[in-house]
Amino acid sequence: MLELTDVSRTYDDGHPVHALRRATLRFAEGEYVTITGPSGSGKSTLLNVVGLLDAPDGGSYRVRGVETVGLGERLRGGIRGQLFGFVFQAFHLLPGRTTVENVELGMLYGPHPRRVRRRMAMAALDRIGLAHRAHADPRTLSGGERQRVAIARAVGGRPRAVFCDEPTGNLDSANTGTVLALLRELNAAGLTVVVVTHDDRVAAEGHRRLRVVDGIVGEE
Ligand code: ADP
Repeated sequence: MLELTDVSRTYDDGHPVHALRRATLRFAEGEYVTITGPSGSGKSTLLNVVGLLDAPDGGSYRVRGVETVGLGERLRGGIRGQLFGFVFQAFHLLPGRTTVENVELGMLYGPHPRRVRRRMAMAALDRIGLAHRAHADPRTLSGGERQRVAIARAVGGRPRAVFCDEPTGNLDSANTGTVLALLRELNAAGLTVVVVTHDDRVAAEGHRRLRVVDGIVGEE
């Protein structure tokens, strides 16, 4: 589904920072891949490039056969909205909006018309066992519940892949277990899951494990 060939990303920080060096890798539909590596090694850069949040400055990146390098932000955003969902360490739920409204916001750039989004958002909350909190302010939820809502927001529009950057970084062991079970379940239902983590327990979930060192991506 995702095919990177010689993909590089260099930041200009007064001097060039080679965050990603000629990465060549594939992600098949339905895979569960975890990515580890030291802090500053390029994991988030890789995830952002693969998720089309950031554009590489060299190489080829095909998504379902479509070359994305060289596409404008509008077209890349279109592919991203159709196919990808994102989960971050800090949840990023909007306060002052209800839980179900937050989940609906995840579909804003997706293919689903506004009139079906509420129903899909409720279905996503139901799947994570939080339908009864649909009209609560996310500030009243626990950390584990907030991350489950963030996952519902990421997958409510039924993307093909979800990219998670340290999804359990703010969670205790019990909530980590709940989030991992949820990701496992989504993957079993066919969703491609890619997770960046420094937690060995999370890394062990991957059917395939990648390790990034100094901007170079390798298989474990
Ligand atoms: P990781 O996720 O493994 O901690 P990152 O992908 O965040 O690593 O960063 C890789 C390297 O790129 C680091 O040296 C980091 O300082 C640098 N970097 C990341 N983002 C930027 C940016 N926007 N501008 C300049 N340098 C950056």
